[in-house]
Amino acid sequence: MLEIAGITKKFAGLTAVNQVSFAVDAGEIVSIIGPNGAGKSTLFNLLTGNLQPTIGSVRYCGKPITGYSPERRARLGMGRTFQIAKPLLALSALENVLVGAFLHQRRLADAEAAAFDILDDVGLADRAAIPASELTLSERRRLEIARAIATRPNLILLDEVMAGLNPTEVHLAVELVRRVNQRGITVLLIEHNLKVVRSFSRRVIVLDRGKLIADGQAESVLADTAVIEAYLGARRS
Ligand code: ADP
Ligand code: MG
Repeated sequence: MLEIAGITKKFAGLTAVNQVSFAVDAGEIVSIIGPNGAGKSTLFNLLTGNLQPTIGSVRYCGKPITGYSPERRARLGMGRTFQIAKPLLALSALENVLVGAFLHQRRLADAEAAAFDILDDVGLADRAAIPASELTLSERRRLEIARAIATRPNLILLDEVMAGLNPTEVHLAVELVRRVNQRGITVLLIEHNLKVVRSFSRRVIVLDRGKLIADGQAESVLADTAVIEAYLGARRS
């Protein structure tokens, strides 16, 4: 579904993403972990077209999409959330999801019906009329996921959607991500909570200082010395 080859992003003097290559199969849940500043969000921006790579290429469903705009990629079925949740604060929860639904639905009534179903699914039906500015952090995160789902993605990129949530809210979010995946949407998520990563117990990719340092099954990757060092900030030679 997704094939990234030698992707690199340089900002002035800094190589934020350095020669990263990996592929994702349809139906997978892949967690991306790594210390702050490792290049995880930059990698997502390269995949969604919010940033263009300095070198390297991205293929999606067999199609070379390097250079495509974010909107064109969304139309091809790539959905995303942002690390800093960016709901349209003055709009209601329902209207926020409508923005996503309009990507494929032209008629207001159809888009509204679709948006409401999705809000219901993420547990926000009773908050539909509330301005996004009045939602809690946990509700805003679910709203972001709802808006991404409304664009009918085949692949969804979730950037730290569980950060700052309490254990009950994390549990809700984990269940939601599972349901999304069970509906056939491939999930790529940036996640700091290793308990969450383990609970999905699938594939984990580790970035450290822009480089991919591990890619494999959660159990073995999380036991890897280089990964532990990257996390603990142990001295490197
Ligand atoms: P992560 O999401 O893993 O915490 P980021 O991808 O946000 O890391 O950042 C990786 C590195 O790139 C950091 O050093 C960050 O300061 C830098 N960076 C990110 N975006 C920009 C930008 N637009 N301009 C310059 N430097 C950036
Ligand atoms: Mg980030």
